[in-house]
Amino acid sequence: MRVIVVGGGPAGCAYAVTAAHAGHSVVLLDDGRRPATWPGEALPAGGAELVDSIFGAGMLEGHAEAYGTSAAWGSADLVAHDFMAHWAGRGFHLDRSEFDATLRERARGAGVEVVAQRLSEVSGQGGDWRINDRWEADWLVDASGRAGAVVGRLGVPRLRLDNQVALIAVVADAGGARFTTVEAIPDGWWYSAPLPGGARVAALVTDADLVGPDRLRTWHEALDLARSIASLVGTGVVSEVAAYPAGAAHLEYLHGDGWVAVGDAAVSVDPLSSQGLITGIVMAAHAARLIETDLAAWELNYRAVLAEHEETRAWLYAEETRWPDAPFWARRAVTSRT
Ligand SMILES: Cc1cc2nc3c(=O)[nH]c(=O)nc-3n(C[C@H](O)[C@H](O)[C@H](O)COP(=O)(O)OP(=O)(O)OC[C@H]3O[C@@H](n4cnc5c(N)ncnc54)[C@H](O)[C@@H]3O)c2cc1C
Repeated sequence: MRVIVVGGGPAGCAYAVTAAHAGHSVVLLDDGRRPATWPGEALPAGGAELVDSIFGAGMLEGHAEAYGTSAAWGSADLVAHDFMAHWAGRGFHLDRSEFDATLRERARGAGVEVVAQRLSEVSGQGGDWRINDRWEADWLVDASGRAGAVVGRLGVPRLRLDNQVALIAVVADAGGARFTTVEAIPDGWWYSAPLPGGARVAALVTDADLVGPDRLRTWHEALDLARSIASLVGTGVVSEVAAYPAGAAHLEYLHGDGWVAVGDAAVSVDPLSSQGLITGIVMAAHAARLIETDLAAWELNYRAVLAEHEETRAWLYAEETRWPDAPFWARRAVTSRT
């Protein structure tokens, strides 16, 4: 089968590698627009083994081992969850740009034609696609992340469960351990993790309408309320804060005639879960193994995974009860009751 995968992130590469290994002819388009400033992300315990099983050994070389998570959630005191003795194995703090570059290298090694190009045009329909006026394909895969470049053009409805954004800064590291630290505040929650090279990421997750006209100021004011995160931020002026969408959302349906959506293009989970990478990689590799079969059972499976995410998310937000009247928490309390 001639397969075109749009998006060369973790989900797109997992799909492409798995389909190529099954003997399909695969072209992977990536527009290279992931911001160079996109900071590290955590691969939870057990993720390394999973990634190696799909892409080959040694995928995590050069990335920093993560010791666990420490959270001030429901109280101002930090509670640590150690990965070191975790039954599922080691976790990692990733350098995302490096990680994605290695994924695409592994895809090339598996025989995938990796092309640095943006999807600009889709014509045709199920089983008879023409892409960017250059490639013909029997099967089209949307792995373009939250952009949903293919499904947007096909008119597939996307249901948004919230309007979260992340205000992300790379800051000096005051010397904290290699834990991901999470801390709730009245307008949302923070996470911070060390980055390779001695810096760290400090990100505020809040609702878009709670960000003031000056996002740098919003970030600084919120940091004043986060005692544990502030203690990890070293001295030095923070003058640049980037804003990225960070909401939970999913498509009304995940596949159709001659196409499938995987990863964040299909289902984007709340970053609080740290499950986005694993979910995307697993669902993509799974879909690629079923390429010439009916995807109805696959879709049902990922609807169940999504329902489970939603249940866990509601439970986690319900654990924080200190600011029931603050809009961020009141909205989530309503969500968790419905
Ligand atoms: C603030 C924040 C923090 C997060 N932290 C974590 C974490 O710690 N752990 C974790 O597991 N997950 C985390 N996530 C989730 C994780 O980032 C995603 O789940 C994951 O990147 C999804 O992978 P993907 O391959 O589906 O999409 P992406 O990684 O978004 O890849 C999509 C690719 O498609 C390309 N593309 C887009 N449009 C086009 C187009 N038109 N043509 C060609 N190419 C295109 C993009 O440039 C990109 O390379 C976080 C998310 C956010 C927002």
